[in-house]
Amino acid sequence: MFPPAFAYSAPESLDEALATLTNEGESARVLAGGQSLIPMMKLRLASPAHLVDINNIPGLDYIDAANGYLRIGALVRHNDIVNSELVTAHNGAIASAAPWVADPLVRNRGTLCGSVAHCDPEGDWNSVMLAARAQVVAQSTSGERVIAIDDFVVDFFTNSLEPGEIVKEVRVPKYAGRGGGAYLKLERKIGDYATVAVATQLQLGEDGKISEAGIALTAVNNKNTRAIAAERALVGEEPSDEIFKEAAALAAQAAEPESNVRGTAEWKRNVVSVYTRRGLEASLAQARA
Ligand SMILES: Cc1cc2nc3c(=O)[nH]c(=O)nc-3n(C[C@H](O)[C@H](O)[C@H](O)COP(=O)(O)OP(=O)(O)OC[C@H]3O[C@@H](n4cnc5c(N)ncnc54)[C@H](O)[C@@H]3O)c2cc1C
Repeated sequence: MFPPAFAYSAPESLDEALATLTNEGESARVLAGGQSLIPMMKLRLASPAHLVDINNIPGLDYIDAANGYLRIGALVRHNDIVNSELVTAHNGAIASAAPWVADPLVRNRGTLCGSVAHCDPEGDWNSVMLAARAQVVAQSTSGERVIAIDDFVVDFFTNSLEPGEIVKEVRVPKYAGRGGGAYLKLERKIGDYATVAVATQLQLGEDGKISEAGIALTAVNNKNTRAIAAERALVGEEPSDEIFKEAAALAAQAAEPESNVRGTAEWKRNVVSVYTRRGLEASLAQARA
């Protein structure tokens, strides 16, 4: 199917893009990799009157690890993350999620920031970002706004950007001391969206106890969801099989999956539990390595 007619601009500077977005208001949408927006337009699930293509804007394709954060710019493709030694060095959950996003063709074009903005509950990145306590840096003609990921992911395909704002970067705190993370995804076939996936992140204190914990779930709620009770059960505890099992059971309670062709709700909850425990074990091994 063809999308409805739309106006198109391809600005060569961020200022120009922001001015166009401000002038066009709610009828305009940013086009990044186009891997979600274009299919939605073709299916007529989205019909923006104006597309602002940001691909010609220089300086948005950076990954860096300065000032306590791993920072990922708006034009960093999924594949750039797969190949980034900096990401591998600074965040295990992001590094392990990247090869699981879609297929090589989509990974060559699609962007992490586009995925985060898209807020698809079956998308992989927002669970990783919730577990890692990411921040979204939004830019508009009035300046910059830093939004905690918990406030950014509002609902099913809904974020908290204001009209005229672009996601300029997503950043996650670097591990302070010993940290580790993992992303475990069950999919029906290579390149598919998750049937169930779980992102985990652990930080160990000087005493070897868990000082911070992040757990978030993909495809089992109407948005990517943190398992907050499970996280709380871990903080302050010595890592052990028992505490990981308890957290895994609490994570399963945070899931409200639907029964569908991919499996029953009960089975998906069980997968959440198993993947949470395995993810925590992998995160711990990385933190101790
Ligand atoms: C066959 C196929 C399989 C896929 N499988 C998976 C999968 O397994 N896991 C997964 O997570 N995803 C999957 N995806 C989605 C893919 O990862 C997309 O790349 C991603 O969801 C969106 O990134 P994009 O850069 O293509 O964004 P676009 O499609 O360009 O935009 C998506 C939305 O985000 C907005 N947007 C984009 N960038 C910005 C920005 N910088 N600031 C503000 N708003 C912005 C757009 O306006 C639009 O509303 C799949 C897609 C396809 C086609």
